[in-house]
Amino acid sequence: MDSWNESCQACGAADGPLTKFSLGKDFFGRPYDRLSPSSNQNPKWYCVTCSVHKNLQRDFRDIRTEFDKLRAGQGSELSKGDEFRRASLRLQEIMAILKGTQQPSPFLSGHDVTLLIDRLNTLTMPV
Ligand SMILES: [Zn+2]
Repeated sequence: MDSWNESCQACGAADGPLTKFSLGKDFFGRPYDRLSPSSNQNPKWYCVTCSVHKNLQRDFRDIRTEFDKLRAGQGSELSKGDEFRRASLRLQEIMAILKGTQQPSPFLSGHDVTLLIDRLNTLTMPV
């Protein structure tokens, strides 16, 4: 099936182009495991705004997962200085986009993003 003739699966908008959202690679450039979770098995159709927010949510989740690993002393992408920097920039960017939109994101709360930024700031950037 290559088209969806109904409405955005997040906000229900029925007017305007829809984009099929399918997860390929995560924020750190790693392919998603296509065998297990749900993420890529059911591509969904979103309107333009929602697909932007879906991307933000995906990056946010990837960063938070790596942050939790770092805190737990496990191997983490964020233990690399470059990735750490890139992740903090991306969080700032996500926050700026969230602040710039009129409606709250259907996927992501600004509060969670702020919290993660604060927690990230308490860490020393790896070299
Ligand atoms: Zn939508």
